[in-house]
Amino acid sequence: MHLLRGAVRTYAWGSRTAIAEFTGRPSPTAHPEAELWFGAHPGDPAMLKTDDGERSLIDALRDDPEGQLGAAVCARFGETLPFLVKVLAADEPLSLQAHPSAEQAAEGFERENKLQIPVSAPNRNYRDPSHKPELIVALDQFEALAGFRPVPRTIELMRALAVTDLDPFVHLLSGQPDAGGLRAVFTTWITAPQPDLDVLVPAVIDGAINYMRSGKSEFANEAKTVLELGERYPGDAGVLASLLLNRITLEPGEGIYLPAGNLHAYINGVGVEVMANSDNVLRGGLTPKHVDVPELLRVLDFTPAADVVVRSEVVEDGIESLYPTPAPEFAVSVLRIDGDRIGHEIDAPTRHDGPQILLCTEGSTVVHAKGGTVTLQKGSAAWVSADDGPIRLAATEPTTLFRSTVGI
Ligand SMILES: [Zn+2]
Repeated sequence: MHLLRGAVRTYAWGSRTAIAEFTGRPSPTAHPEAELWFGAHPGDPAMLKTDDGERSLIDALRDDPEGQLGAAVCARFGETLPFLVKVLAADEPLSLQAHPSAEQAAEGFERENKLQIPVSAPNRNYRDPSHKPELIVALDQFEALAGFRPVPRTIELMRALAVTDLDPFVHLLSGQPDAGGLRAVFTTWITAPQPDLDVLVPAVIDGAINYMRSGKSEFANEAKTVLELGERYPGDAGVLASLLLNRITLEPGEGIYLPAGNLHAYINGVGVEVMANSDNVLRGGLTPKHVDVPELLRVLDFTPAADVVVRSEVVEDGIESLYPTPAPEFAVSVLRIDGDRIGHEIDAPTRHDGPQILLCTEGSTVVHAKGGTVTLQKGSAAWVSADDGPIRLAATEPTTLFRSTVGI
């Protein structure tokens, strides 16, 4: 068991304060810090802090895959860590995106290989042959768009904005209030010629301004999001697409699970994100990066869903709550030590024998394992190899740990 030094990623949409404050470094930082990666991703692996200095987690896995990952994990996923843990801090909206299914990713990766598009090329969609299910859990209030809203509610929103140019789409959705209607409207918008968008997007922005001025509150978040996105990306079809998606505010501890084909955009906030170890993103707008609309349309799931918020469920021992997610690559739980448990050594077994990444988001605790002892405090993380487990915890104050393991 070793402390992990995460890799800070500086993207323009990041925060100059959130990740620095989380990890106890001076803030504001010189560059916006968007993500802090804890994993064995070849693009930016975390470093194990050993007595002999720092060592890449990738090198440790390569030298002793069975000891680090366990034989069962190696048999299921090969000799690599199948998940990646991130702290994500968004000061500005991220791109409108979806991720492919395992089949779509394998097929797309091979197709782009045959077309001889270099894996690192900006116009490459599929950088690996894997799917990329994601779970984001809010650390403070987290704002996002995720999944298509049930159509009757979307019709109410569009009517509330009172934009004449939206009338044809309200009619279309009223006649076909299902995935087919959503596909038709979204496809029309996302493929619309720029001159059409230059009329429709400003009209919707005007509708949102008038709605905000009216003092009505029912769709205030939706209208505010239209204005925020419209200010940064004027004339972008993603502003229109936001009308079709669930506008979600997560409270701390609440999450969203994003399966293949789920259209989403993170708007603002700090969270812990755990995902399959893949880079496969199909973007549809709200970004200066590569956008591939036909490929996005191929993978999107237009099935509307109202309640997309995931809450953790207490596991029998009382300190662990598990987020119920179906991806085989990862399982995420929260270990909370408070009240009478402070000052005592507590068993924290996992449901299987694979590796764990522990990330402390509050408080401080000693972690005991076969492979030694480390102290975690807010913003620090530990790698617990398969050989190190199980762990025992001894906290001196109320403490929260995120635990990521391989899924069952
Ligand atoms: Zn995503």
